Amino acid sequence: MLPYDQARQLVIREVAALRKTTAAETRRLREALGFVLAENVIADRNYPPFDRSTRDGYAVRAADIAPGVTLPCTGELKAGDESTAVLAPGGCVSIMTGAAVPPGADSVVMIEHTQRDADRVTFDRPVQRAQNIVPRGSEARAGAILLKPGQRIGFAESALAAQVGAHSVAVHKKPRVAILSTGDELVAMEQKPGPFQIRNSNNLSLAAQVRFACGEAVELGSVPDRPDAIRAAIEKGLAVDALVLSGGVSMGKYDLVETVLRDLGAQFFFDAVAIRPGRPAVFGICRGVPVFGLPGNPVSTMVTFELFVVPALDLLSGAEPRPLPLLFARLAAPVRQKGGLTHFLPAVLDWSSDEASVRELPWQGSGDIAALGRANCFLVVPEDKPELQPGDAVLVLPRRDLL
Ligand code: AMP
Ligand code: MG
Repeated sequence: MLPYDQARQLVIREVAALRKTTAAETRRLREALGFVLAENVIADRNYPPFDRSTRDGYAVRAADIAPGVTLPCTGELKAGDESTAVLAPGGCVSIMTGAAVPPGADSVVMIEHTQRDADRVTFDRPVQRAQNIVPRGSEARAGAILLKPGQRIGFAESALAAQVGAHSVAVHKKPRVAILSTGDELVAMEQKPGPFQIRNSNNLSLAAQVRFACGEAVELGSVPDRPDAIRAAIEKGLAVDALVLSGGVSMGKYDLVETVLRDLGAQFFFDAVAIRPGRPAVFGICRGVPVFGLPGNPVSTMVTFELFVVPALDLLSGAEPRPLPLLFARLAAPVRQKGGLTHFLPAVLDWSSDEASVRELPWQGSGDIAALGRANCFLVVPEDKPELQPGDAVLVLPRRDLL
């Protein structure tokens, strides 16, 4: 059976081969968080725009300074002040962090290394030229490309674009992801389930995962396990950028999703992955749209979305697929699983000691949403090392919404 990292690579390869990204639109920078740039962001001038002092202290000529030297202080410069008067040799100017270093000065001495007596300043050590100055244009030259198409706008990118005055930007539209649950047992969460029915929770978790992955969720509700109903709903789902189904992909008599997709002309790249939970996950392309058939048990649905759907959404948004954010931690208690499958177990990652440690939570298997509500990560148990000892370095997949 296909290991999960190979399955993930297949998704990346096939979605990249579609060469489809969402159209570009212009958005105000304030409303562009999480979007992917479709244009360059360019430095509108030099950064910093002037030689900037990084300290509170005195602007000087380094050649004038030696331990015990006393110089007259001829002025004061604070951030935002015009700084055009040339510093005469043998003098110094009081300067604040962020202020422009005056012409003639070549270094700034920290205030901590000086003593002031009225208008005279005594220096207690030498200073090197250029010390405590960020030269004009050293962070970015006017005209330089600071952000490129494909970069996602996070908090730093927002600041950078704001700094250069790019208050509106061309970005890719968020990919629209249709979400469809299948199952005769499902009722909408607003309804009271009969004794043998359950509420549809996957629509909600999938919509949340789509949003965390910077997509736009299009919720199609649920359909019963009947080919005609599934087919009609899938056809609706194929009108957007990607389709994610939950349920109906196992081996049971009423697991019809794959058959219906095949009838609609889907090409499949996998229909099982060596993982637990999530083994029956299906990935295909139908009429040019990536389609994911995720198993219906809620923990399976959530794990397989993180593994397989997120990179597809990145590509559709015009970005590189982000890597799976796996971390190392020390295992707190022994773990024993079946070999041959990579397990993703609800677990708690804890940073209260020097080293991050992780502990598996008791759970009842892939239907146990309550266990996941106590977890902040998944402990990854490799297929070739199903028995792990306390102290082992293990991989952990953080819950993207919490960590
Ligand atoms: P399936 O993958 O269709 O065999 O579904 C497996 C189990 O997952 C079902 O028996 C339900 O208990 C549960 N399940 C399926 N779909 C949903 C859903 N949309 N929301 C919550 N639980 C579900
Ligand atoms: Mg089902």
